[in-house]
Amino acid sequence: MKTKICDWCGQEKPRSEFAKMHPSPDGRRSQCRDCRKLMRRQGAEFMREYKKLPSDEGEPWQG
Ligand SMILES: [Zn+2]
Repeated sequence: MKTKICDWCGQEKPRSEFAKMHPSPDGRRSQCRDCRKLMRRQGAEFMREYKKLPSDEGEPWQG
């Protein structure tokens, strides 16, 4: 089974756990469904803290 490592939680998951996104090299987003669900529930500020991103880093899930 093809797997992919989530950019946010760092867990290796099956490709099917990643939403499709055509412009990316492998046609999948780099965040797993769980992380994206969490992001939608908790909001951008929470995810910025979760990823420990500097506030000027922008929104990593966009694009
Ligand atoms: Zn994840």
